[in-house]
Amino acid sequence: MTEPHSWKDPSIYVHEIHVEESCMDLAYTREILGRAKLPYTVIADRDDPQGISGVYPDNLVQGKRHLLLCLNRGHFFKPCPGTKEYRCCDYQVLNIGMGCPMDCVYCILQAYLNKPWLTFFVNTENVFQEMETAFAAEPDRFFRIGTGEFTDSMALDRLTCLSPQLVEFMAKQKQAVLELKTKSAVISNLENLQHNGRTILAWSLNSPVVMQREEIRTATFDERLSAAAQCAEWGYKLAFHFDPIIDHPGWEEGYEETITKLFQKVPAENIVWISLGALRYLPSLKTIGTRRFPGSRIFYQEFIEGLDNKKRYFRPRRVALYKHIYGLLKKYTVPSTCIYFCMESDEIWQEVMGYVPEEKGGIPLMLDRTVNN
Ligand code: SF4
Repeated sequence: MTEPHSWKDPSIYVHEIHVEESCMDLAYTREILGRAKLPYTVIADRDDPQGISGVYPDNLVQGKRHLLLCLNRGHFFKPCPGTKEYRCCDYQVLNIGMGCPMDCVYCILQAYLNKPWLTFFVNTENVFQEMETAFAAEPDRFFRIGTGEFTDSMALDRLTCLSPQLVEFMAKQKQAVLELKTKSAVISNLENLQHNGRTILAWSLNSPVVMQREEIRTATFDERLSAAAQCAEWGYKLAFHFDPIIDHPGWEEGYEETITKLFQKVPAENIVWISLGALRYLPSLKTIGTRRFPGSRIFYQEFIEGLDNKKRYFRPRRVALYKHIYGLLKKYTVPSTCIYFCMESDEIWQEVMGYVPEEKGGIPLMLDRTVNN
């Protein structure tokens, strides 16, 4: 099979849909099947989709072509796990589905999940109910919400059309914002929506060579930037995530090229936050990543084990990476943009940024301010 020229819309990788019996009567299921125009099979509730051979994770390449539409029998809305050892940003997660049609070498989902197919939960009325209940229970709290813990927020949006429902729900909320984080460039569903500044579109960026080599089936850098610029034109606020920052030959020039192009294309005043996080991974991910992507070198560096049992670069190396990137970002960002570390210690904050989050009220408050000013 020939590969398409662009993975702007990675949902084109999906070739077959499986539907749990009890979801067949839902109007939303019918809508998705109608839009997808793909062959589908109906399976018993809680059964596994058939037709995917091999063993996990070797069967991920094949498994990612299969999409299961089913019920979420747990909660959609919950706090991001974070860890107590490092400073985290106090995010809330909306669990809209599992798995991703793209395939990044460093993707943590390879180690977290154990099913090769993609899952999307179709009982979305519960999404809104759960959020309303959570907001009402804590009327004085501000919620920053994301959908990308176990999936990419926009990769399947052409099929699911979930984003307009979320954006329009969020537009009515006074105490919450939603961040849709992606490596795709699927944005057409976002046009002409009354978003009221309550949805932030976010892209993960990296050095050009990392985006090309380590992020398979993702939108190109130019496609991501064009999508971000278009969303800015539609009035959306934007965010960017340099995560995972990867130490590789030419990294200084690579990250400089990315940052320079980013600010040539995207208005700085639309950017609410930018996160930085150096590569970190559970040891099991290295076993999977090196087996699935034998050509990649990203796991062959010197790492230490952090307090959260994840491998990370030695501190001086992390500081060097961060200082360079932070210095470049400071050249272009406006003062209202919050640049923050995802899961780093106060020592790193102090060494790179010259302050610790507590001095500015803590990371959650620093981020909340950017969307409430
Ligand atoms: S885009 Fe995100 S979720 Fe998808 S494979 Fe890459 S890292 Fe994983």
